[in-house]
Amino acid sequence: MAQLSLRAIKKRFKTTDVLHGIDLEVQDGELVVFVGPSGCGKSTLLRLIAGLDPISDGEFWLNGQLMNTIAPSRRGIAMVFQSYALYPHMDVYENMAFGARLMGLSTPDVEARIAEAARMLKLEPLLKRKPRELSGGQRQRVAIGRALVRKPKLLLLDEPLSNLDAALRSEVRLEIARLHREIGGTTIYVTHDQVEAMTLADRIVVMNQGRIEQFGSPRELYEHPANTFVATFIGSPK
Ligand code: ADP
Ligand code: MG
Repeated sequence: MAQLSLRAIKKRFKTTDVLHGIDLEVQDGELVVFVGPSGCGKSTLLRLIAGLDPISDGEFWLNGQLMNTIAPSRRGIAMVFQSYALYPHMDVYENMAFGARLMGLSTPDVEARIAEAARMLKLEPLLKRKPRELSGGQRQRVAIGRALVRKPKLLLLDEPLSNLDAALRSEVRLEIARLHREIGGTTIYVTHDQVEAMTLADRIVVMNQGRIEQFGSPRELYEHPANTFVATFIGSPK
């Protein structure tokens, strides 16, 4: 059984249809990358999965449970935003502790989880700093750490590298790949960058105008693109 299952998911904002019926099955432990041009509906789909916006039609199942009407905090899902979305008045430790405390964890458990995340993300020397005292790359690592502290069944990352310069981008990308392997959970990673998708993904979802054009391994997409859109977007020779 797939860990995550999207069945004919649609999203409408007022009179605009943004997602036209998304079907997708993701297995436990996979790193799946959603890729596609700006405006194709990647962030909208992530927000539906996280529960930040209601699904207009269709079903979302996680670990055999229908998620459509489950509150975001009870889904076992953590999301990392492009803009970091850290609390400016809290230091790094408090930013990481906040969501874990909301889950009802005891103080020693919160401390232990933060120590583990800080070690994995090399944040130990920064725990007392405020977000404004951090570089972009450090802020993004805190945002990832804050998500990891909740030990989510599913980690969602929405263009996590887009505010970083080129050198940091490859560094944080490698870190995300390493974390995914170390933790062994399921990760969905959104980007508009096909190189990122090809280097990170177990499998890639190519989206275009609210639809899935193809779902497959980087190699399948490159060697057997389903159509001209995928071939052009992935840059395969066909
Ligand atoms: P992507 O993340 O792939 O760049 P988005 O999911 O952000 O794309 O947006 C997909 C489409 O949905 C865009 O046309 C965008 O304008 C529209 N959209 C996103 N959020 C809203 C909203 N809250 N209200 C109306 N339209 C929206
Ligand atoms: Mg987006």
